Amino acid sequence: MNNKSSIQTFCVKESKDNKTTSPHQLPLYATSSFEMESVDDAIEIFTGKTKGHVYSRYGNPTIDAVGQKVADMESFGLGIDAFGLLTSSGMSAISTLLMSLLNAGDEIITQGNLYGGTTELFQKIISKQGVKTHFIKFDDEELLKKTLDNNPMCKIIYLETPANPTLSCIDLKAISTLAKSYGIVTIVDNTFCTPYLQQPFKHGIDYIIHSSTKYLNGHGNSIGGVIVGKRNESTHAIWTALKLIGSTTNAWDAWLLNNGLKTLSIRMDKHSENALFLAENLALTDGIGKVNYCGLENNRYYTIAKKQMAQFGGMISFEIDGGKREAVRFIDQLNLCTHAPTLGDVDTLILHPATSSHLNIDQSLRDEYGITDNLVRMSVGIENKTDLLNDIKEALKSI
Ligand SMILES: *Cc1c(COP(=O)(O)O)cnc(C)c1O
Repeated sequence: MNNKSSIQTFCVKESKDNKTTSPHQLPLYATSSFEMESVDDAIEIFTGKTKGHVYSRYGNPTIDAVGQKVADMESFGLGIDAFGLLTSSGMSAISTLLMSLLNAGDEIITQGNLYGGTTELFQKIISKQGVKTHFIKFDDEELLKKTLDNNPMCKIIYLETPANPTLSCIDLKAISTLAKSYGIVTIVDNTFCTPYLQQPFKHGIDYIIHSSTKYLNGHGNSIGGVIVGKRNESTHAIWTALKLIGSTTNAWDAWLLNNGLKTLSIRMDKHSENALFLAENLALTDGIGKVNYCGLENNRYYTIAKKQMAQFGGMISFEIDGGKREAVRFIDQLNLCTHAPTLGDVDTLILHPATSSHLNIDQSLRDEYGITDNLVRMSVGIENKTDLLNDIKEALKSI
């Protein structure tokens, strides 16, 4: 700093020393831009010839480090070179990836029981780009083949497994094999599992998206998403879409996500253990009807889940004897579980899908996928599992 300048100028200048020490933890780069050493260096970075940072919408050291960490988790042990891009939300991960891969006139095949927001995205936004979506049941392989044969403009198969809120599963290997034979790209929303429980790459899937808002962060304090793919000729186009749509995340949310990732394995172990315990016990509890959990041996999807998941995860859903009134009373009587419209936090969360996450979904579609008025969804936390069971039993008594 020129010591001839005044204190007013001195105040405005940044005070920094980030080059002489090596931080043990990932620093939070709260900066919108980066100093460019010279005009020539800037050109090298802008044209992608040299790695570096210029402007945080294009990339930022904190954001990039965490995105790559998720990619390395998704490809862990598989010998795949994957890239990971953090986005401002799970929805922006989905919309950015789709916009970069699709052209007007293309078509998508997906399931009817997607995350509610994703169904709406296909119906209300993606449709306006001239992209048609076919909603089918993937349990029926003949139907899938027929849909593929009859619709040659299908370019993408988009999947969620297990799916919200009934935890139905889709055989990833079977679908990816069929998709490859038709030259179709596959995308899996891996939010419910995280790479610790399920690695879609292992089963031949091309792209993975996450709402990191949920289990990856785990503490309910940031909104975010991730796009993960194998590094290839499409990678640059996806990054370009992210940069131009502007669905980039911010360094603070990336940094919070990084904290969450460190405890992912022990959280997922505990979520899975507690959910299995509750599912097994609730299946034997008076006042509770059907229990949906792919980790129950008599569940319709147990064999598929066992094949592709390391454990069965923390989401369960179950029907309260009666109807909507009883389900709502039950939720109101719980003390330990919080009534909140998210999932994957360390504490237990409960939701009534018919009047919240699936309120905007047609009744006929809800009926088809078992989203009944007496169904409640639980994101089982990492509390003491007996405390949770007791809370549920107490609440059932006072319906
Ligand atoms: C929450 C969620 C999304 C959307 O993520 P946001 O971070 O809320 O945008 C997408 N898919 C699944 C499975 C989700 O649970």
